[in-house]
Amino acid sequence: MRRFFTSEFDFDPDKIVMCSNCSTCRWTCTSYEEFGTEAMFAGGRLRLLRSYIERKLTVDDDFVKAVYACSTCEQCVERCPIKVPYVEIIEDLRKRLVEIGKGPYGGLGAMGDRVFHKHNPYDGDPTTRADWLTPDLKVSDDSKWGYFVGCTGSFRRMEIPVATVKMLNHFGIEPQILGNEEYCCCSPLIRTGQVKKPVYKKQEDGSKKLVGVVDVGEVINHNIEEFKSRGVEHLIYSCSGCYRTTTLDWPKFYRERGGILPFSTQHLSQFLALRFKKGELKWKNGYNEKVTYHDPCHLGRHVGILDAPREVIKSIPGIELVEMERNRYDSKCCGAGGGFKAGFGDEAISVASRRIDEAIETGATTLISSCVFCKLNFMDAVKKHDYKIKVVNIEDLFIDLMELS
Ligand code: SF4
Ligand code: SF4
Repeated sequence: MRRFFTSEFDFDPDKIVMCSNCSTCRWTCTSYEEFGTEAMFAGGRLRLLRSYIERKLTVDDDFVKAVYACSTCEQCVERCPIKVPYVEIIEDLRKRLVEIGKGPYGGLGAMGDRVFHKHNPYDGDPTTRADWLTPDLKVSDDSKWGYFVGCTGSFRRMEIPVATVKMLNHFGIEPQILGNEEYCCCSPLIRTGQVKKPVYKKQEDGSKKLVGVVDVGEVINHNIEEFKSRGVEHLIYSCSGCYRTTTLDWPKFYRERGGILPFSTQHLSQFLALRFKKGELKWKNGYNEKVTYHDPCHLGRHVGILDAPREVIKSIPGIELVEMERNRYDSKCCGAGGGFKAGFGDEAISVASRRIDEAIETGATTLISSCVFCKLNFMDAVKKHDYKIKVVNIEDLFIDLMELS
């Protein structure tokens, strides 16, 4: 079959044709639910791509917006009857848009610039990265255990690393953290196609001067080499995005050992579930409330970790876990991932609000998640709409019930 080829795009045509003739996943798509227009779901988006390629149209702002208005939640991939790797295609397409200078969308490029200058997408001062670390929290410089804090925990939701280190300390683990040597996991850059992005500085005369290139491979290799040189063998995560990126993306960029990481990766829900199975997790207090659990896309659909968080929640005395209508592989997206929150802030909160409505419909008083980024977006929605439901992560619940807070 003829390959769709222009100087701008070169994708497997079969996949694009199949997807562009289909609408199966439309009704469960995060972005379609939000925008309600034909270009805003997988099949519609690839229909648009096909038109651009076949008619050799010039990429315009509307096309770039459509390509980026997707949270890469993979609900479409889960539903897809012909297994089109839609998210891989869209991430590749975003990479191409960045390469030809048409992407990323809106202000998303600033994330890449900030990672280049400050090693995080929030513009946080890297020397304050571990400012959450109070003297009561024990970390060490020779443990086999490491904790990858992530940028959102370091600069936006600092209660999460505090709770995570308290949890690890409870089990006698004093993890190594990298402090200002921890660089972004690169999830925001990989998801938005900024794998190799030129960074410019505006000159006094208004012109732009190239100051360098943010190279995801270099950032990732820095993190890996730091943990390796410190002898870390097991790396713990409280952010599902960081965990997914380390587990699935870092090996593709790691230059040594054929891409096999020199440490194991464990999300904290897996860590706690294992402690429970070994009989080492003994709850000090119960939680006599009805709760529901939100599967973060990056932890659930992307990596398949669905049971561990539920096992931990169900082990809490007195707790009643009820499922939302959409759960596990069918879980709805919170709206934060894939650059969606950074690029479409209001819409991301609206997506989170719909998920919270679903949680409230179950009669639960508490919405539990296990991702820093999901919590950040849910909290923004709670603040905006004054929802009465409590939003916590597993580690928050742990330190509360263990009286460690
Ligand atoms: S991703 Fe799959 S289900 Fe969705 S439109 Fe494309 S082919 Fe159809
Ligand atoms: S990844 Fe999610 S938001 Fe993007 S097209 Fe698929 S279902 Fe829609």
